[in-house]
Amino acid sequence: MSQRSRFTVLGLLIVIAGVTACDRAPMQARQPSSDLAGREVPDGESRWRYRASVDGELTRMQLGLCIEGSVPHALVAGDDALEFVRSARVRGGDELEREGERLILDTLGSSGCIDLELDLTAMADQGERDATRIGESLMLTPTLWLWHPERIPESLDATLELDLPIGIHMTGPWPIEGDQRRLDESAFRWAAWTALGRFEPIEFDAAGCSFELALLGARPQASDDGIRNWIRVAAESSAQLFGRFSRERTSVVVIVSGGWGGGPVHFGMARRGGGASAMLILDPDTEDDELPGEWVSTHEFLHFGMPLVADPWMAEGFVTYYTTILRARRGVLGSDSERSSADADFQTRQALEMLAEGFAGGRTSAGTLAHASETMREQHAYRRVYWGGAAVAMDLDLQLRLASGGRRSLDDLMRSMTMLIPERRRWTADELFERFDREVAGWREAGELDREVSPSAIARQHLDARATPDRIVELHELAVELDAGTIRLLEHPADHVALRRSLFAPHARLD
Ligand SMILES: [Zn+2]
Repeated sequence: MSQRSRFTVLGLLIVIAGVTACDRAPMQARQPSSDLAGREVPDGESRWRYRASVDGELTRMQLGLCIEGSVPHALVAGDDALEFVRSARVRGGDELEREGERLILDTLGSSGCIDLELDLTAMADQGERDATRIGESLMLTPTLWLWHPERIPESLDATLELDLPIGIHMTGPWPIEGDQRRLDESAFRWAAWTALGRFEPIEFDAAGCSFELALLGARPQASDDGIRNWIRVAAESSAQLFGRFSRERTSVVVIVSGGWGGGPVHFGMARRGGGASAMLILDPDTEDDELPGEWVSTHEFLHFGMPLVADPWMAEGFVTYYTTILRARRGVLGSDSERSSADADFQTRQALEMLAEGFAGGRTSAGTLAHASETMREQHAYRRVYWGGAAVAMDLDLQLRLASGGRRSLDDLMRSMTMLIPERRRWTADELFERFDREVAGWREAGELDREVSPSAIARQHLDARATPDRIVELHELAVELDAGTIRLLEHPADHVALRRSLFAPHARLD
């Protein structure tokens, strides 16, 4: 990578890091404006057919959109997208009028096409975190170019066809149907990581998911096989909880960029627009054997196994807890050389040392955990929120295991949330914990628990406190001796040993 593009990537990422830790909130959901000037026809099925083409130097995109069904009043895209529109007209007709951030459609009948010319060079120069040029490729979110009718109908059939010059590829999260990509409502509402340019996509299946990966930037030390194996192990770590990867299809943009300090992978972020997409920053000097089991990829992929959770303490905390637990279950904690002689106890010790260190490092805040979570981005209270939330997860997990003799655990509640992913809305932790309460009450009624466990009450206790309780920070219930960050596994008392073992063996029972 040239000096300039490296700084561009760094600049981009500093902007991202300033905005959020590892997950960007989706774009503000647009409210359907159903009866703008009474022009919208009632819902039947609407069909939107997109066709995108670009030139070999990636300076311009020609975007055609043909619409059948509901007649739109205006086209919209993400914030500031209008400044990249060089021309927009009804096919064979006049240039569209602009009003605020919208393109006004006064002359389109119940079926018709619109042609847009979009300035990719300007997007890359001014798009900040949403578009950047890396070598001969662009990383950009579709919300910068995917202009769409302002109102997204409930019954929508939308597809995208790519018409790209030979040697140019585009990766994105959208499901593939023949020559088309299927666009669901979230493709228009939320951002995604996509790559467009001169690279050969790396495609493979792992843990029941088809991955499409774009490697952008300088040629890394790691081989394509090493990169495939890295992503595969992260997917398999997720599968320790969900039985398989949580999505059918996932696209990944890997940017090779150094100058970030230690660690094989410097940064990651998950997005949900149009499906699952992740961006990962790989250090150019990372060797193949340093990649399997590194935490960033596992962390980002675990976000795809949860619905979109509004409260950081839950979204990040639960993911943080399982990032450690599931890598231990997969047997990939520790360095490659340590691992070759490793047994289950080695993985358990590694995981508990990491959890103990995390809990201790994020133990206290000036205000409550609830307040730290609400103000996380302004106060940079990431550590407290991620690890305070992980402590909620662990506390709930342990209490469910103890009350059920290992028959029930947080794993069950995590799996129950996967059915909410397709709803493509934002959930509060309160809403999700109400569901947990009902689920757990059902277990109690069925005689699976020997005592009451209230997920909401457990969370409340943590959220109202300024510090994580000692019993969690010091791993009291797990039969360990914790000395200056080093864990010794004890063999007594027997019930604590059984509880400890059950954490790292997905279906273990305590009796
Ligand atoms: Zn995260």
